[in-house]
Amino acid sequence: MGRRPFIAGNWKMHKGPAEADALARALKTALSDLTAVDVAVAPPFISIPAVAQRLQHTGIHVAAQNLHEELSGAFTGEVPGEMLRQAGCTYALCGHSERRHIFGESDERINRKVHAAFRSGLLPILCIGETLAQREAERVEDVLAQQLETGLAGLEADQVATTTLAYEPVWAIGTGRTASPQQAQDAHAFVRSWLNERFPAYVGKQVRIQYGGSVNPSNAAELLSQPDIDGALVGGAALKAESFVGIIQAASA
Ligand code: PEP
Repeated sequence: MGRRPFIAGNWKMHKGPAEADALARALKTALSDLTAVDVAVAPPFISIPAVAQRLQHTGIHVAAQNLHEELSGAFTGEVPGEMLRQAGCTYALCGHSERRHIFGESDERINRKVHAAFRSGLLPILCIGETLAQREAERVEDVLAQQLETGLAGLEADQVATTTLAYEPVWAIGTGRTASPQQAQDAHAFVRSWLNERFPAYVGKQVRIQYGGSVNPSNAAELLSQPDIDGALVGGAALKAESFVGIIQAASA
């Protein structure tokens, strides 16, 4: 059974409620006959209610860019998964490279967020990926294995099967420098073999592995044609309906 492609757009710290609603409205129109691809968008927290309302009954899902690992409490400025679910989210990004590298999130903390997502009824999108220095030191597989080992620790096989993994080499995010289709495929194949060694076969068959890092409508088709690339996590090109839709069309071709 083939895996259904999954394209997610990470709007990062762009698009307040009015602009987010306008982009959601444009996506709703452009993707009205969407059938072959799963799509999600991750607006800033403040814009989630407007986007969720606009995208109701469209099949386009809403994702949170982050969540706190506790369910509630004295954590000023944080948002827990349950509130994100109530606001209309289906998915939550966990361990995006900017959370790891700018905000210092460790693999252990990201693992707690993955568990919190499940406890809150959200599906995690666990982001992993090496820095340029780690690639140059030929440590890609070690780094990915460590991020997977800790990031997925304590999950049941069924939970892993419904987790999306996003392989995002740090050097390719927001830089315009994309991994070559072969580099990306090699990393994805490693991730799938890692899953196959640790979980029953259905897990590795089912888990969708997105590629992220300067994906655009011109490079998407070749990346997505690789056997272990099941979708994309898109930053910059997700901020305009035209380019995001172009990537979704490449995924449905
Ligand atoms: C991202 O934010 O996850 C990302 C991949 O960004 P960009 O597409 O801009 O490289």
